[in-house]
Amino acid sequence: MDFVVIGGDAAGMSAASRAKRNRPDLNVTVLEKTGDVSYSACGMPYNIAEPDMDIEDLVVRHAQVFRDKQGINLLTGHCAEELSPGDKTVSGRTSEGKVFHLSYDKLLIATGASPVMPDIPGTELPGVIPLKTLDDGRKIKAFIKDRRVRRVVLIGMGYIALEMCEALRAMDIQADMVKSRPTFLPWMNADMAEVIREELESNGVVLHPGHALERIEASDDGLKLICPDLTLDADMILPAMGVTPNSELAANAGIITGIGNSIAVDTGLRTSDENVFAAGDCADAVHVVTGEKTWIPLALRANRGGWAVADNVCGKDVRVHGTVGTAVFKVFDLQVARAGLNAAEATKAGFDPAEVMIRSRSRAHAHPGASKIWVQMVGDKKTGCLLGVQMLGKEGVAHRINAAAVALHARMTVEQFSQSDMAYAPPFGPVWDPLLTAANQLLKKI
Ligand SMILES: Cc1cc2nc3c(=O)[nH]c(=O)nc-3n(C[C@H](O)[C@H](O)[C@H](O)COP(=O)(O)OP(=O)(O)OC[C@H]3O[C@@H](n4cnc5c(N)ncnc54)[C@H](O)[C@@H]3O)c2cc1C
Repeated sequence: MDFVVIGGDAAGMSAASRAKRNRPDLNVTVLEKTGDVSYSACGMPYNIAEPDMDIEDLVVRHAQVFRDKQGINLLTGHCAEELSPGDKTVSGRTSEGKVFHLSYDKLLIATGASPVMPDIPGTELPGVIPLKTLDDGRKIKAFIKDRRVRRVVLIGMGYIALEMCEALRAMDIQADMVKSRPTFLPWMNADMAEVIREELESNGVVLHPGHALERIEASDDGLKLICPDLTLDADMILPAMGVTPNSELAANAGIITGIGNSIAVDTGLRTSDENVFAAGDCADAVHVVTGEKTWIPLALRANRGGWAVADNVCGKDVRVHGTVGTAVFKVFDLQVARAGLNAAEATKAGFDPAEVMIRSRSRAHAHPGASKIWVQMVGDKKTGCLLGVQMLGKEGVAHRINAAAVALHARMTVEQFSQSDMAYAPPFGPVWDPLLTAANQLLKKI
C-alpha cells in the first residue's frame, strides 16, 4: 500500500514515522516543498533571542535520518500542486522545476497554515519578514545580525508577536507593536489584559492599538510603516497577524472545507474523500465544550492528528475527541494561559455564562517569593458546567491550566471541579488552589 503525505512538519512527519513503525512494509512517501522537515517552530522566538544559538538546533530530526533509519521516502523540494482524487494521484513540481506524478492508496494533507500578511502596499520590501517557517527564522536572524537592526515594528498583538517582543528586547532592540483594532488581547479578561500591557510597557515595548495600516515604504535608513495618524520608523517589520489554513489543494480537488477555510474532517481525520485524510493546522476539529467545529492551530493537535491518521491508515479505528483550545505563552516574566471559552464565546455558543475573576497567590501565605495569580473562570448557569478558564501570573500558571483543560475534556460541572482533590504544599500554592478558589466563587453565581 502506498501512503503519501503532503507536508513534512509536525502532523506530516508524526504520521509518516508512526505509519512506518506500525507497518514497516508500508510505502511511505512525504512531499515537502521546502528543504526543512520536523523542526520546532515554537522554539523560534527563543532561539532568535540568542544570537549565538544556531537556528538549525531547532531541527528535531534531519531529513536523512527519516530516510536512512526509518525507511521513509522523504522528498524535500517537492511542492504538491494538484490532487486527482478520482484516479488517486498527486502531481506537482520540484524546486528545480521538474514535474512529478505520484499515485497513492491513502493520502494525508498536512500542509499547515500560512501567515496572514497585511493587505497594504510595501509588504514585498526587504526587511518585511513574517515568522512562520524555519527559513523565516533564518532570514530574521540573519537580517538582525547583518543589518544591525535596532528598531522593529510588529504588526499584530497575538502570542507570536508578544513572544517576539521579548526576544527583541533581550537584544536591546526597540519594539513597537501596532494593530488596527482598538482592543489589546480582546479575548482576554480586560483587567488581566491590562496586567500584560503593563508588563510589556515596563519592559520598553510601545503599543499602538487602533491604528489602521496604510502602507510600508522604504526610507533612507530602513522602512516606514505609515498609518493615517502615525508613522513608525523601523529597520525590520514583522507581520504577526495570525495564520490561515493551507487548504487550496484540497478545495481545488473538490474536498469539503469548512470553518475559516480549514479542511473539514471527521474525528478519524477523514476528509469528504474516503481515501484522503487531513491533520494539523490545515484541518478543523471539534471543540469539546461547544460540540461545534472549530479551527485552532496549535502543535499538540497537529502531532496527535498525525498519529491518529497513521493508525487509521494501518487499519485501526482511532478517534480524536477534539480540542478545548488549551494554550500557554510567556510575556517577559508573565505566564499567560487559557482553556475553553470566554464569556463572549460562551454566549455566542448558546450558553448562559456566569464568570468570576479572582486574585490568589502562587505560594502559601507567608511563604517567601509568592506572587499574584489571576484566574478568570466561566461556567454555564443552565447546566452548571465549567466552560473556560484564563490564568495569569509569574509562576504556577503554565501547568496549572492543564487541570482546567482536563476538567473541560471531562465536561465537569463547576461543583465537581470545586471538589477536586488538588495538591498542596506551601512552595507551590495556597491550601485552596487558585483554581479551587475561583470555582468556589463561581458556584455562588450559577
Ligand atoms: C513562531 C511560532 C511559535 C509557535 N509557538 C507555539 C506554541 O508555543 N505552542 C503551540 O502549541 N503551537 C505553537 N506554534 C504553532 C505550531 O508550530 C503549529 O501548530 C504546528 O507547526 C502545525 O503543524 P503542521 O504540521 O500542521 O503545519 P506546519 O508546521 O505549518 O507544516 C506544514 C508543512 O507543509 C509544507 N507544505 C505546505 N504546502 C505544501 C505543498 N503544497 N507541498 C508540499 N509541502 C507543503 C510546509 O512547507 C510545511 O513544512 C507556533 C508557531 C510559530 C510559527
